[in-house]
Amino acid sequence: MLITCPYCGPRDVSEFSYQGDGNRTRPDPASTDQAAWNAYVYDRTNIAGDHREIWQHSGGCRSHLAVTRSTLTHRISEVALAGGSTGRRHGGRS
Ligand SMILES: [Zn+2]
Repeated sequence: MLITCPYCGPRDVSEFSYQGDGNRTRPDPASTDQAAWNAYVYDRTNIAGDHREIWQHSGGCRSHLAVTRSTLTHRISEVALAGGSTGRRHGGRS
């Protein structure tokens, strides 16, 4: 599987580290709502299709990336810098 880093270009997945689900929203750190924290830490959806994930280019520029990957085919449709920059369509192989 190849991931196209916005800075480094297409690289093998072995250069990247999976950082987790990119769809979760962390509760307010001051919150004492145990149900909200429990859901944040333990609840996971098992999506069959496109899934937004956070990856770090740990073997390269060390950027954190928001990657949209199909859990069915591993095809990557979009890669963007995590934190809100514009997305970049992932071309070619997956
Ligand atoms: Zn990179």
